[in-house]
Amino acid sequence: MKENFLGVDVCNYNYDELASLLIQDIEKKKKSFIVAINPEKIMKAQKDEELKKLLNSADYQIPDGIGVILASKLKGGKIKNRVTGIDMMLKLCQVAAAKGKRIFMYGGKPGVAEAAKKELEKQFPGIQIVGTLHGYEKDESVILETINRHQPEILFVALGSPTQEYWIVNHMKKVTPYVFQGVGGSFDVISG
Ligand code: UDP
Repeated sequence: MKENFLGVDVCNYNYDELASLLIQDIEKKKKSFIVAINPEKIMKAQKDEELKKLLNSADYQIPDGIGVILASKLKGGKIKNRVTGIDMMLKLCQVAAAKGKRIFMYGGKPGVAEAAKKELEKQFPGIQIVGTLHGYEKDESVILETINRHQPEILFVALGSPTQEYWIVNHMKKVTPYVFQGVGGSFDVISG
């Protein structure tokens, strides 16, 4: 199900397929992490072997960026539709609301995650966003304790890329969530 572009893997799933795999991961208590791939990240990874390994270590690389779709087409590949980071986050919120899965939002300037949470609660009735934390808290034990206290199953990390992806791989075993997604500036966009 994965295609490779200059050494970087990308999955061929649509929003619904990936959302149902993520819910299965939670139900199986399997840790998984999603990273959005665009041509900029693929080019950066050409000069940065550690970044390439990090991107490939994700469970699901989503084709965020029309350049990936064009590259797949040129290679005779099967990836036909974009799956953007923000729309995947919104799909996951929709499915999590329906399935009663607990979400935590980490990152962004103080107040932003909280404002985005209120918007998501309007958009997805029944959604359980159990906590938020801004992305400028530097005390690691405070970050881990704040997340774990709320026992989330899904964690959205908005610290910018690739900081958020390094944060996820270095901390995913230390916190309760099963599903992790780096979402860049999405909290800023959602909060308006
Ligand atoms: N950010 C953060 N902590 C930091 C640095 C950045 O929480 O130490 C947040 C910032 O407030 C913004 C997001 O990370 O909400 C980065 O968004 P950007 O659009 O730059 O990320 P990209 O989508 O380009 O990776």
